[in-house]
Amino acid sequence: MKLINNEYPDENTTCKSHGKYTAKIAYLGEHKITSTCPECSREENKKQADQKKDELAAKRRQIQIDFLEDANIIKRYWDMTLDDYKPREFQKNAHEKCLNFASRFDEMCSKGQCVIFCGGVGTGKTMLLSALIQSLRVGYYIRAVDISRNVRHAYSSNESELDVIEELANQRLLVIDEVGLQQNTKAEALLITDLIDRRYGNMVATILITNLDEEGVKESFGPRAFSRMMQKGAIISIDGESQR
Ligand SMILES: [Zn+2]
Repeated sequence: MKLINNEYPDENTTCKSHGKYTAKIAYLGEHKITSTCPECSREENKKQADQKKDELAAKRRQIQIDFLEDANIIKRYWDMTLDDYKPREFQKNAHEKCLNFASRFDEMCSKGQCVIFCGGVGTGKTMLLSALIQSLRVGYYIRAVDISRNVRHAYSSNESELDVIEELANQRLLVIDEVGLQQNTKAEALLITDLIDRRYGNMVATILITNLDEEGVKESFGPRAFSRMMQKGAIISIDGESQR
């Protein structure tokens, strides 16, 4: 429908919120149309723009939450990248190693690298490696005990153990935390060794986090498995000293 414009003189009118303004007048058939208060129009436009901005922010947030959940990152360490991680003196070396790992990630994958982060309780290892996954925006975090639990669960459901292992074996980056805890069994060490072998074959990178030192890791996995792991791997100690 066509508005007939410019045939009627402007009229002074009043907006309830903004007071007097000069309105354009038009008719749509018999229906008189008075142009909206410019201040109201401005406010409405801003409201719509803000709404669109909020919707976009919410969408972005949802994408981020989906990623964090898919990567199985512990909620405490959400929204932290390596750039956000402020290393204390003793964490600087490990932090740098992570930055280096991130910048050479494709190469780390092609080598099927296995990197072991050693360090005592409370040295910020889990936070650091969670930040690495978030910097790369790729990877999966899991505790060793949960791998065993998932495998056990597979026995009691219709899934096979192999399905559980295969899914983990194909993640581009897998971070396995709490490796070699005292209550962990020999079976768990075998499970992880098998997983690392498969991942080496699949040309994807693996990171282990442990409270053990190098000797402890060797003992936990057995010297042969350990030396195989170290053929294409490295041990990084979070107290600042690279042992290899
Ligand atoms: Zn108004």
